[in-house]
Amino acid sequence: VRGGAPKTRIRLAGDVPGPMDPPTGCRFRSRCWKAEDVCATTTPPLRQVGDGHAAACHFAGPLQESATAVAA
Ligand code: SF4
Repeated sequence: VRGGAPKTRIRLAGDVPGPMDPPTGCRFRSRCWKAEDVCATTTPPLRQVGDGHAAACHFAGPLQESATAVAA
């Protein structure tokens, strides 16, 4: 780790959606531990969440550099 806090790994659970039958709303919701009702009904728009960073999530805030998502 170069400076700062150690990275925290997040292991994704759940099923990877099939490209022929993607879920409604957010395409990531079947693997998201933060999914709520709105995630099933509304596709989140891509929006700026930080300097040069964008995210398509209803609950995205400023990016946390200490978190790294790792596919299981
Ligand atoms: S919109 Fe955000 S919180 Fe909702 S399922 Fe997608 S990534 Fe998860």
